[in-house]
Amino acid sequence: MKIVVTVKLVPDPSAEKKIDPQTKRLVRTGVETVLNPYDEYALEAGLTLKERAGAQGRVTVFSMAPESLKETLRKALAMGADDAVLLADPALEGSDVWATAYAVAAALRKLDFDLLIVGGLTDDSSTGAVPGALAEHLGLPCITNARKIDAVDGALEVERETDAGYQTVRTPLPALLTTALTFGEPRYASLKGIMGAKKKTIATTALADLALELPVGAAGSKTQLRSFAPPAPRGKGRAVEAADGAAGARTIFEFLREKKLV
Ligand SMILES: Cc1cc2nc3c(=O)[nH]c(=O)nc-3n(C[C@H](O)[C@H](O)[C@H](O)COP(=O)(O)OP(=O)(O)OC[C@H]3O[C@@H](n4cnc5c(N)ncnc54)[C@H](O)[C@@H]3O)c2cc1C
Repeated sequence: MKIVVTVKLVPDPSAEKKIDPQTKRLVRTGVETVLNPYDEYALEAGLTLKERAGAQGRVTVFSMAPESLKETLRKALAMGADDAVLLADPALEGSDVWATAYAVAAALRKLDFDLLIVGGLTDDSSTGAVPGALAEHLGLPCITNARKIDAVDGALEVERETDAGYQTVRTPLPALLTTALTFGEPRYASLKGIMGAKKKTIATTALADLALELPVGAAGSKTQLRSFAPPAPRGKGRAVEAADGAAGARTIFEFLREKKLV
């Protein structure tokens, strides 16, 4: 089974996020870049399926990011991916979700795969819109929130998490899956994996290789960020202590009733 896993490179989630007031874009310089944490779950799913497929299994990691971040992909190779492809081009700067999905889909069309695994969300922009857009561009069935995946008779049987529990669905291949965080904790890269990753290939591709019909970057974006604001600061909480006795219990009860929780 040939698997491609998309991985976005994002600013370290533990670092404070800053927006450039001029460009209204997230400041991505001066902070460490890492693999989007949700994509590590997607990669774990890909690597698990690869192991089950034995010699037929192969995982390629794909990312669209500036060329300067190329080496960040080495971690995915250390975790066990076979190779990586980076779509990098200065003209992609300023791409919104539409332009991103359009360019990523065009680059993915050049890769040969049975299964495309996409993280459900990113830590920085968090629209969750890219997987659906990719499925639409590529004409693939899209199964979101997969928590268990089994290859059965050339198809996939997938348990997908829902608010009410889970569903079991079957899809023919090729298909696109997004993974739920309950799929399983991403593995750590072993020392052997880290050493082996140094020799693995990270191929780069540029817009000229894709022969796109429509513009990307700011010119090809259909949305514009008009304004932004930090979340409103939380009000001071009300503290009820054991010493408040019956009056404290009444305060808690009134609070829950106000919120329609009792
Ligand atoms: C007007 C505008 C301008 C923007 N300009 C820039 C800019 O200059 N630079 C910039 O970095 N961002 C820019 N962004 C943000 C950028 O458009 C989004 O980060 C991008 O579309 C992905 O959306 P998301 O992060 O919400 O992905 P989601 O839909 O939340 O991601 C879901 C999954 O899709 C996959 N995925 C998403 N993006 C990529 C990627 N790049 N490579 C591989 N897989 C991916 C991952 O597997 C991820 O888990 C801009 C946004 C707007 C609205």
